Amino acid sequence: MTSLYHCHCPCKTNQFAITGAPMTRFFCHCTICQEKYQAPYADVVLFPLGGLTLPESHSISFGQYKRFGAIDRGVCTQCHQPAIAKAGEGAKGLAFIAAHNIANPESLPAASMHIFYGTRVEDAEDSLPKYRHYLSSQFAFLKVLLTRRRT
Ligand SMILES: [Zn+2]
Ligand SMILES: [Zn+2]
Repeated sequence: MTSLYHCHCPCKTNQFAITGAPMTRFFCHCTICQEKYQAPYADVVLFPLGGLTLPESHSISFGQYKRFGAIDRGVCTQCHQPAIAKAGEGAKGLAFIAAHNIANPESLPAASMHIFYGTRVEDAEDSLPKYRHYLSSQFAFLKVLLTRRRT
């Protein structure tokens, strides 16, 4: 289902919108998310990047981190919290947005998996699939993307 989502960084200096159907939602327990979100894990929604509208004068600083492919993580220059992350460009690109950065989360899907569960600091008490390592996490992710491409 295609929807319009209003998004912001935690301090709301950065406000932006994304239209599109969320591709998946997952809990990421990687050490970069733990550090960036200052939380045991991140609750992240994946969108096609094409629907993203960032204001030209945004206060987000993008930087590359070597985990999990080439993900360009955008951090707010005011609150220093993650605002949005991007992978790839244009129609084939992906946007990663934390669920708590989405102002109207009602129409988001439920989370479907845990990834990088091997580096968790907290056990999850649910029956979702848990991918422990880099490769299995990447593979679970690819499967979501491939399934989407076929439909
Ligand atoms: Zn901020
Ligand atoms: Zn992560």
